[in-house]
Amino acid sequence: MCGIVGYTGPREAYPVIIKGLKRLEYRGYDSTGVALQNGGLKVYKKKGKVAELEDSIVGKDLHAHVGIGHTRWATHGEPNDRNAHPHSSASGKLAMIHNGIIENYAQLKQELLKKGYSFKSDTDTEVLLNFVEDIKTNNHCSLEEAVRIALKRVVGAYVILLLDEETPGTIIAARKGSPLVIGIGKGEHFLGSDASPMLEYTKEVVYVNDYELAIIKPDELILKNLGNETITPYVQKLDIELAAIEKVGYDHFMLKEIFEQPQTIYDCLRGRLDAIAGTITMSGIQQYSGQIMNANRIVIIACGTSWHAGLVAEYIFEELCRINVEVEYASEFRYRNPVINKGDVIIAISQSGETADTLVAIETAKAKGAIILGVVNVVGSSIARVSHGGAYTHAGPEIGVASTKAFTAQLAVLTMIALKVAHDKGSIDKERYMHLLNELHEIPQKVSKVLESSEHIKRLAEKYKEASDALYLGRGYNFAVALEGALKLKEISYIHAEGYPAAEMKHGPIALVDENLPVVFVATKDSYHEKIVSNMQEIKARKGKLIAVISEGDDYTAALCNDVMVVPEADEILAPMLSVIPLQLLAYYIGVAKGCDVDKPRNLAKSVTVE
Ligand code: GLU
Repeated sequence: MCGIVGYTGPREAYPVIIKGLKRLEYRGYDSTGVALQNGGLKVYKKKGKVAELEDSIVGKDLHAHVGIGHTRWATHGEPNDRNAHPHSSASGKLAMIHNGIIENYAQLKQELLKKGYSFKSDTDTEVLLNFVEDIKTNNHCSLEEAVRIALKRVVGAYVILLLDEETPGTIIAARKGSPLVIGIGKGEHFLGSDASPMLEYTKEVVYVNDYELAIIKPDELILKNLGNETITPYVQKLDIELAAIEKVGYDHFMLKEIFEQPQTIYDCLRGRLDAIAGTITMSGIQQYSGQIMNANRIVIIACGTSWHAGLVAEYIFEELCRINVEVEYASEFRYRNPVINKGDVIIAISQSGETADTLVAIETAKAKGAIILGVVNVVGSSIARVSHGGAYTHAGPEIGVASTKAFTAQLAVLTMIALKVAHDKGSIDKERYMHLLNELHEIPQKVSKVLESSEHIKRLAEKYKEASDALYLGRGYNFAVALEGALKLKEISYIHAEGYPAAEMKHGPIALVDENLPVVFVATKDSYHEKIVSNMQEIKARKGKLIAVISEGDDYTAALCNDVMVVPEADEILAPMLSVIPLQLLAYYIGVAKGCDVDKPRNLAKSVTVE
């Protein structure tokens, strides 16, 4: 996790770095720090968010044309001033920021302690920094050379940026497993964990690959591998506009992103789905369609909200394509020696495309001969690059830490893939196929309709905000929506919430039900509707407070409930794209009503680039 920024060029570095760090705060906000080079190195750092650092250094000398900055998501050492990055080396001549984990830091630390080094922080980062300095001193070599030697011994994941008092204006950067983008300006260079810190300055970027090292000066970018061979940087053009990463009038990014969903789902379908011609065009899937339809099984690998999208996709693929599907948590899958057969199809889902566990899981599967399809949002991200094929979700930058628009875009993409495969395979009849294409085409409008009820949901949030627990229940396609609704509430409002299959609650969670417990049912009209209504009766009989997401016109279910949130009717396969929207809004408004920082919930970070 963590956000890193760097700048070298004619501008004042500090304002560029601070603005960039604010855009990357979604990646971590345990502490903030900058190192500026103007003759010597000046390091300023503070526990807390970027604004807290700014307040603490008013009046300090911030003049410099080169600098690096960091927002931390702590892995080693508690979030405090001491453990904040940048770290300074023992001699004080080097400063470093780091995103990732140095897994063998304890061993390296022992070696350095024996040599007489002492440490000011508890971080793995400071160990790597002093390890580099030790190599530089003993070998009388350049910083670049020392970094190269050091990284050959490092186990773990990193992006590091270093400044050296002896080489003014130069930043040394290296990456393995965490993201790094270099923006190329005229006589200046920008660095970031993603492209957002450099959007107003340049559209030309280089995505640094694993095991690459960069030497960056204002007018020169040298890229090398760890074997010291020079690599020609592959310069790409960015197509993100600045407005896409700003709040444009909304109180929070999360609310903006919830309200963007009619557009983002539309963007995701645009150019792919033709409901009149009855075609789905997905170039990154097309060439693998044969392998997917003949696959013995599909394994979907994901984490968090993306895993919930995977669960919905499991039901859809099995129903439409008649292929066995398994949905795996990436972190479990990667460590348990899974059975992968040649020709297995892996679908990896990740908003950021940088999720560390997912990345390693698919690399493992790829090595065993599986076909890897990525469903990711961030263009050019690591998962997109290691996948054989796949499809982007085109939801635009998602800044709110709790994922919303990425989820519905993932559902749209996964549904299109399933429909395409089912059509090619002949496992769906023409009438149902055309019906689903038409219904999918109408989803953006229906999402707009759901969003019209936001004021009603805000009132419900006021009513239920004092709850200490909540149960979310759903069946079938809406089971994963119940999990997602509960996750949103936990993340944003810190209210304990559990998502469960509605029928399964009889095997345990029903013991929690009393007159104080809000039970949120996702109960839109589908083939299990009568069953879930029976489950609602069971809760009502035990005096639980019934709140439900129901289909328009379902007066019978509405009459059972204390409160309802209504969504337009849709085919049950597509219902999750609608039924999740009120639950996103409910979590958002409860979080706001409780005074929580909904865009940056405590302990979380958006892009989980550590395992
Ligand atoms: N492992 C480092 C630390 O705990 C970096 C964590 C990060 O990526 O923010 O300080």
